[in-house]
Amino acid sequence: MSLHNMKIENRLERAISILKQLISYPVIGGESNLSISRYIEDIFKQHGVDYHHVYNETGDKVSLHCRLGPPSNGGIILSGHMDVVPAEGQPWTRQAFDMSRDQNRLYGRGTTDMKGFLACCLALLPDMIEAPLQRPIYLAFSYDEEIGCLAGPALASNILKTYTEKPAYAIIGEPTSMITCTSGKGIGVFTTHVKSSAAHSSEIRTSVSAINEATLLIQWLNNTMERLLTKSNLDHRFDPPHTTVHVGTIHGGTAVNIVADSCTFQWDVRNIPSDDIHQILKSFSLFCSERVAINSTDNPEFSIHTEAKFPVVVPLDTPMDARITTKVNEWTNTSTPSSVSFGTEAGQFAEVGFQAVICGPGNMEQGHRADEYIEIEQIEECISMLNNIIMSHCKS
Ligand SMILES: [Zn+2]
Repeated sequence: MSLHNMKIENRLERAISILKQLISYPVIGGESNLSISRYIEDIFKQHGVDYHHVYNETGDKVSLHCRLGPPSNGGIILSGHMDVVPAEGQPWTRQAFDMSRDQNRLYGRGTTDMKGFLACCLALLPDMIEAPLQRPIYLAFSYDEEIGCLAGPALASNILKTYTEKPAYAIIGEPTSMITCTSGKGIGVFTTHVKSSAAHSSEIRTSVSAINEATLLIQWLNNTMERLLTKSNLDHRFDPPHTTVHVGTIHGGTAVNIVADSCTFQWDVRNIPSDDIHQILKSFSLFCSERVAINSTDNPEFSIHTEAKFPVVVPLDTPMDARITTKVNEWTNTSTPSSVSFGTEAGQFAEVGFQAVICGPGNMEQGHRADEYIEIEQIEECISMLNNIIMSHCKS
């Protein structure tokens, strides 16, 4: 075995053992992440790395970031989230939070999404410290990604504020099978409540049914999606190549012989970069105001109210010829960059001025599923990318 191969083998074993530890902290999106963040902080402390906290308002959740190398402009941020989705209610045949190994796979909740990436970064921390870096590498780990990328914006802007130098690039290590992904759809999730007043069903012609009104709003949302589907608005980097607007749940009414006094539905918008969720929301709220104006004269209790589940997550739209794209293609041997169909923090990093792409080990087909696993080969490929990043940052 060559010295180089021995080094990779050694990093691989280190990454696998760190991953086992990371998996053992069952921090679900929405829960306090202080347990897993302390484990990571201990690794930073063992290596004498200065790091920074970005707490939430109540202090029970924290993002972490640190810089390796000199305080010079043009560095790269490696970022990932510490939370995972629940395993409860899924037909797991293995322990979700006690990682197991079977041949070439590692099983456990978060192996793919996305503690595998964090483990690789942490396994190569000693290499980042020892290497004569000319430009810095930053590690940035967030919480509550799985419930709407809640911590991304504060983490990205805190990085900008903390360091005197300015990082130029960011890789968000979500599972892409180690292929550079330059674009991702945005997402917004909403709940709309329609309130009216109850009446006997025989009076339907003279009263206002909240269910009937909700169906008008839902039809408006469907029509809006169809309108956005005009040819000029297709973006073939995505599948499907357009913005989607979808109503997933609806609850309304109390009995078959009562005109419904309330109806609530939940909907989401997944937008291509050229469509703006805020614009869609604005038009929707105009339509809602029209319905309120029409109905409230005879029915003063009539109202429509829409709330967002979390702040809208912006899409990612990094050009194919951007420096970061070329670099990550080179580090990963990607010939054709791709796109992801899920929401990520990458757009949030891009929004504060870091050129960002998504690239990480594992495949989203295994993420969020029962018996989630990652191929060990993916961990190796990620280590190899990180090695290439370290080497290229040693050159001025
Ligand atoms: Zn993820």
